[in-house]
Amino acid sequence: MEQVWIDVMGRIAPEDVYEYARRAGETIGEYVARRASLAGRTDAIPALIAEVERAGRTHYVVEIDGTWGGEEILRADSLDDAVRQAEEWAQDGEWDRRVVVSVWVARLDAYDRMRRSDDITHETLVNESLGRWIDVEVGPEPEVPPCTDGREHDWCAPYEVVGGIRENPGVWGIGAGVVLRRVCRHCGRYRVTESQPGCSEKVEYKEPDERSRAWVEASVLRRYEIHSRHSGAYLGTYEGATPEDAVEALARDAGYDSATDMDARTGQSWRNELVVEEVE
Ligand SMILES: [Zn+2]
Repeated sequence: MEQVWIDVMGRIAPEDVYEYARRAGETIGEYVARRASLAGRTDAIPALIAEVERAGRTHYVVEIDGTWGGEEILRADSLDDAVRQAEEWAQDGEWDRRVVVSVWVARLDAYDRMRRSDDITHETLVNESLGRWIDVEVGPEPEVPPCTDGREHDWCAPYEVVGGIRENPGVWGIGAGVVLRRVCRHCGRYRVTESQPGCSEKVEYKEPDERSRAWVEASVLRRYEIHSRHSGAYLGTYEGATPEDAVEALARDAGYDSATDMDARTGQSWRNELVVEEVE
C-alpha cells in the first residue's frame, strides 16, 4: 500500500486529503480517483479511499476561536483524547495575556461532512459525539507585583476602599460566578479575582490609587505604651492604627469584649485613666 500511496499521492498525508479535496471542490472519492487516473493506478482507488477514510476516523480538527487563534489536525484515539490534546496545544500557543478561548474539536471525517452540507451543523456533530466545544484558559498567569519593604501582601476588604455592600464588602456576583476585590494593607495594591464555575480563577492586580494609599496610611499599625494615669504603672504595649485601637487591645487582653465592656463591668471610665503613648 505504501508504495501505491506515494506513486499516486506523493507527499500528501492521508489526513491532508480532506483539505486538498475541499480546496479542489471535490469529494474525497473524486479527488482520489482523479489522482489515481493521472498516475495510471485506477486499480488502487478503493484501497486509497479506504486509507483516507481510516485517517478521517483517527484524526481530529482543532480550531481556536473560529480559527483566528490557530487550527491544527491531530491524531487521537477518541474524542476525549483529542480534547485533551487540543487543550494542551492551545495552552502551548503564544499568548501575550491570560484569556479564555473557545476551542472546537471534531473528528476529521465528520468535520468534512459538516463543511460539505448545510444540514449538518456543529450541533449535529456534538449530538453524535463527534465534536465538542471547550473553553480553555491560555496565556501567562499575571505576575504578582511585589509588596512594599519585602513584605507579603495582606489582602483585606475594608468597605470604604473596596466598595460593594457593607455586609460583604468587595464581592460582586457576575452570572453564576463571583468577583472579589481586595486591597493590601501594606502597599495599597488591589487584587481582583474572578471565579466562574468550571473555570480556573482569573486574577488581576492593580496599582494603588489615592483612596487605597490614604487607607494604608490611616491603618498602619503603631505601637503604644499604656500606663495608669493614677499610679503610673506600666500596663503593656499594644498595636493599633490609633490610640483607641491600642486601648481596645488592652481591654481584650484583660478579658473584656471591648473598652466599653471594660468600663461597663468595672464601673469606671478606664479610658480616662490611661496614658497612651506611641513608641518607636
Ligand atoms: Zn502589598
